[in-house]
Amino acid sequence: MKKAWLALLSLLIVFSFALVGCGGNDKESSAGAKTTLQKIKDRGKLIVGVKYDVNLFGLKDPKTGKVEGYDADIARELAKKIFGKNANLNKVLELKQVNSKTRFDLVNNGTVDLAIATCTITEERKQKNNFSLRYFNAGQSLLVKKGSPIKSIDDLNKNTVVLAVKGSTSEQNIKAKAPDAPVQLYDDYAQAFSALKAGKGDVLTTDNAILMGMHKEDPNYVLVGGLFTEEPYGIILKKGDDEFTKYVNDFLKELKANGTLDKLYKKWFGEPAPDDLLKEI
Ligand code: GLU
Repeated sequence: MKKAWLALLSLLIVFSFALVGCGGNDKESSAGAKTTLQKIKDRGKLIVGVKYDVNLFGLKDPKTGKVEGYDADIARELAKKIFGKNANLNKVLELKQVNSKTRFDLVNNGTVDLAIATCTITEERKQKNNFSLRYFNAGQSLLVKKGSPIKSIDDLNKNTVVLAVKGSTSEQNIKAKAPDAPVQLYDDYAQAFSALKAGKGDVLTTDNAILMGMHKEDPNYVLVGGLFTEEPYGIILKKGDDEFTKYVNDFLKELKANGTLDKLYKKWFGEPAPDDLLKEI
């Protein structure tokens, strides 16, 4: 009889431990670690990596200190989703600068929670990071000074210096598509555009939408040669963080369904977002 009681008691103990273990604690993932979303909520602030020097996507106004652009606006919407639409964005959102090279590691090492930074989703990059659905579709093109003899990628040769940014898809693509042309690399787009203006190269290459931002800033520089790659943009997330990736994808779908994404797209690019924009790449 005593044995039976002891057995029952130990069963009860095991059972109650199991219950505590399951806990119904939605703050923790199945692995027991805090979820990214809970970390952000506990910190009271979302930290997003954005560009500071890319007109139309993420451009820091030196006067106000505000980062303006489509990517920055999407970050603001995400902060509102997490902390409520009346939250003070100055408190609950920090926009940290990333560049084409640093953005992947800064997400993986937790310096930023995610990065919305003109980033093309590629198979190679998917080995290193998670990505959201496509939220913008660009293509690589060329920017030259008005009157330049360069009209297309076929005009690039060993005598034409091409300017590009380190760590970008454009760097790899141009080397493949115009292998004879010498390429000069810069850390970011502000430096690359200054170099073009200073005559250090004949042509600057990156995504058409980024080049369009430069053209708007200085109409003496024009896009030529059409598009020669596809550049679907995705939000960069930590490798393996499927839970937060799903949260961000649901957020993007909500933004499209309630018209906010179309509004932002129109604000920056003059037309509503295409209906098939949010696509898994
Ligand atoms: N979208 C391209 C890329 O992800 C070029 C723009 C950039 O450097 O961010 O590499």
